[in-house]
Amino acid sequence: MGRFDGRIAVVTGAARGIGLGIAHRFAGEGASVAVLDLDESQASAGAAELATGDGQRHLGIGCDVSDRDSVEAAVDRVVGELGALHILVNNAGVTRDNLLFKMTDDDWDTVIAVHLRGAFLMTRAAQKHFVEQKYGKVVCLSSVSALGNRGQANYAAAKMGIQGFVRTLGIELGPFGVNANAIAPGFIATDMTDATAARVGMPVEEFRQAAADRNPVRRVGYPEDIAAAAAFLCSDDASYITGQTLYVDGGAKLVS
Ligand code: NAP
Repeated sequence: MGRFDGRIAVVTGAARGIGLGIAHRFAGEGASVAVLDLDESQASAGAAELATGDGQRHLGIGCDVSDRDSVEAAVDRVVGELGALHILVNNAGVTRDNLLFKMTDDDWDTVIAVHLRGAFLMTRAAQKHFVEQKYGKVVCLSSVSALGNRGQANYAAAKMGIQGFVRTLGIELGPFGVNANAIAPGFIATDMTDATAARVGMPVEEFRQAAADRNPVRRVGYPEDIAAAAAFLCSDDASYITGQTLYVDGGAKLVS
């Protein structure tokens, strides 16, 4: 028996990286999972990889989390096709790194739109189902960059905004049986950090090794590390935890 038997979960930006890792973990513990991503064929390919036991069905849905109509249509489709919605993970993300003096309006607006507006639109669309059934779990992806990171004024503002967002969700939705928390990962080996390696002109392995050498536990993180934390926070083991941000960073925050 899995912790998520009979549960329906939505994970945004889940065609790859951390989101796909979370989708695998939820499916492995019994959930039916809707994989949302910009490109429906990639979302469907992600959904097709997931373990399927008795009563489980996974869906891939094309959805731009920064677009209200797209978000509302996706949530309606999940509830229509899978029958309910119990868990939402706001994971979709982008980076547009630049030092402040070079940061364009578009760099700023894109990052705020995907991370903050996206989390807001998805959570607003999901909460009516959560409140009606008096049960729901929200996890949003923050980052250690919320604490400040050179070249990431847009991303740091969005990721610290996420922490304020879940604190407020905790207050507003707690009386309705809804828990809302954030996970703040450190360096996780995905396409996002590989793209940063390319931008700074370092081979991926060297870039990862440098991150591991700086980290107290002497390794980088993997999507599975974040998936384990997401599964805990979305489980009933964490029903007395809300409004919190859990740093999953190998201790990076302690030494930065
Ligand atoms: P990733 O490999 O770049 O994957 C992000 C996914 O989000 C991609 O599939 C991307 O689709 C999708 N996406 C982008 N914009 C979207 C939109 N508007 N609507 C729907 N989907 C969208 O990133 P990741 O490393 O797995 O990161 C996942 C989350 O963790 C992000 O919120 C990120 O900020 C956070 N995080 C990551 C790290 C890290 O070290 N990797 C650290 C801290 C926090 P496309 O492929 O089509 O662009």
